[in-house]
Amino acid sequence: MSQSLSLLKVLNPQAGWYRGDFHAHTNYSDGVHTPVQLVEVARAEGLDFITITDHNTIDAFSKFGEEPTLLIIPGLEVTLKEGHFNVFGMEGWLDWMEPIFTGQNTPELTGIYGTTTALMRRTSSQGLLNSINHPLLPWEPPLEWRDGATDLRYLDCLEIWNDPSWPDNVQANPKAVALWTDWLNAGYRITAIGGSDYHQPVPEPGQDKPPERLGLPSTYVYAERLSGAAILEGLRRRRAYVSMGARVTFQAQADHTTHEIGADLGELSGAIDFKATVTDCPSSARAQIVKNGHVIFEVPVEGGQASLRYSADAMTTHSDWYRLHVADQDGQMLAMTNPIFVGPRRRSDSHTYGDYAGAASGKQP
Ligand SMILES: [Zn+2]
Ligand SMILES: [Zn+2]
Repeated sequence: MSQSLSLLKVLNPQAGWYRGDFHAHTNYSDGVHTPVQLVEVARAEGLDFITITDHNTIDAFSKFGEEPTLLIIPGLEVTLKEGHFNVFGMEGWLDWMEPIFTGQNTPELTGIYGTTTALMRRTSSQGLLNSINHPLLPWEPPLEWRDGATDLRYLDCLEIWNDPSWPDNVQANPKAVALWTDWLNAGYRITAIGGSDYHQPVPEPGQDKPPERLGLPSTYVYAERLSGAAILEGLRRRRAYVSMGARVTFQAQADHTTHEIGADLGELSGAIDFKATVTDCPSSARAQIVKNGHVIFEVPVEGGQASLRYSADAMTTHSDWYRLHVADQDGQMLAMTNPIFVGPRRRSDSHTYGDYAGAASGKQP
């Protein structure tokens, strides 16, 4: 793997919100662009970073020179009949890739990594992040996550918003948000991310759909510097929001301290003041503060902007979480933050994906 893909390579030493895309393909799997062309597309879209996530191969990573022009975070879309999940952060070949890299699109899991949980436990132990992709997207062959036995304790992220140019995602993406909401309510602090799942700039002949676009959606991550290691650390700390173009801020103030997206305020009592802003919103919309899955405050987004203030009382015995959601008139997401958590951490005895399959019924938000 090229030196330029080292996770420690710093492209910008400044701390800040960086915009990227966690799901894209090259011609090493079923994308049309070469790795270098894909990076050019990312630069043209103004992205700060991309992960390349080819199906069951990391061959694209040998194709970069020593001086990167954009941060590329190594990734892989583990593509199984049970579903697809991205792994982020590998810096070379690892033992568990052996049964995956068989040249088939959907290899059978066998041997010591014979289940999705065994595979995720191994990647987690190597410091990598696991993220289930398009969990509720039906297709033929099926693209939704089909392994009810997957242990959520090894899952770091969920792709709550996949390529919105696919008509089926109009329903599948809100269902993924509902699934994530159920997990949050059960105490799983899994980071929500977006992925354009970009393959090609124009639809294939006969496909009646709009074009895909790299960076739609994108994910903003707060990182201490622009490097692969810092972006992945931002994801672990849930300092991230998913966006279809809108920029947002979301903060909680308590005890004279300001807390940002992803923070855990822990046990406290007294007032918490939430502040949020929306800018650059691409269409008329409503901005909502959501508590434990329920909208508790909302304002219209007009002229691309909104500003929200909401005061809540915290009780030491309550476990609550709050997130900002910007939705268009059809309920499609324009921005979604990860939560700010308050109170003791919730614990659940239900650890598997199948325990939460009810979210597929399509609850909102
Ligand atoms: Zn996929
Ligand atoms: Zn994909």
